[in-house]
Amino acid sequence: MVKTFAVIGDPIEHSLSPSIHNAAFKALNLDCTYIAYRIPRGELGEGIESLRQIKISGFNVTIPHKIEMMQYLDEASPECKTIGATNTVSNENGRFVGYNTDMDGFLEPIKKRNIGISGESVLVLGSGGAARAIVAGFAKEKARKITIANRTENKARELSKFASSLGAESDHTTLNNVDTSKYKFIINATSVGLKNEPSPISTNSINSNHVVYDIIYMPMSTDFITQSKKNSATIIYGYEMLLGQAVLAFQIWHKTQAPYEAMKKVLLGGF
Ligand code: NAP
Repeated sequence: MVKTFAVIGDPIEHSLSPSIHNAAFKALNLDCTYIAYRIPRGELGEGIESLRQIKISGFNVTIPHKIEMMQYLDEASPECKTIGATNTVSNENGRFVGYNTDMDGFLEPIKKRNIGISGESVLVLGSGGAARAIVAGFAKEKARKITIANRTENKARELSKFASSLGAESDHTTLNNVDTSKYKFIINATSVGLKNEPSPISTNSINSNHVVYDIIYMPMSTDFITQSKKNSATIIYGYEMLLGQAVLAFQIWHKTQAPYEAMKKVLLGGF
């Protein structure tokens, strides 16, 4: 029987996940299909019930449901519980088990480059769901200090408290007040850049000592990335995180190594 997988969210029509996973099924000759399923805000309960009815094998969860989905799980992984959000659900004998592959998917391109995190200082721009998974990742990898900068300072404060609760030294500020010279890693986890807006912070002091990581993947190169690249920073692209979390979700569902190159090829072809 064909196994069905999905990504749920709203909006969902531009999601790249169906292309990535379907390319993986093709590469490994798996009898599976992956679809995009729009579930509007406020209709998650009904949507999940219909996924149970069709015996969905697994699904990814994206904006706006990553947090709310936690209450529809039968079981949650430790990462899910720490972050308070799920992006990957596996149907294990009728039980919906939640995982969070955003955190390790984010870390993967850093590790692949052999860039050490332990003892380093980190500046995270943004305080939404993605920033939370990123902060948990840096805390897990024993970053020395995590500074959160956000447009809405209250949310930065909350996320900074979360970082402290995970054992990291942390403080917070606003986007206008950041001093980039104090950090090795500078991460854009705001949505500024999605519509080709200018960088959310000044890039004047960014240099070759910085690792600049923008988790926005569409467009592939935001203004923040373009300016930082001109200043010779090490660059990590958002599509690498997207790929990282997809590979980990694939491995949870199929219990086998994901065909990374096939998934990357279709993703880059989509830009
Ligand atoms: P979210 O929960 O909605 O958070 C959005 C963040 O962006 C908030 O901190 C918000 O600040 C800030 N922001 C929005 N508009 C802004 C503006 N005009 N000026 C300054 N700050 C602004 O979203 P999310 O789930 O964390 O996702 C954030 C981004 O990451 C999205 O672009 C998403 O596509 C991307 N993402 C990428 C991956 C990947 O795999 N590469 C995975 C997840 C998310 P306020 O608190 O002030 O509103």
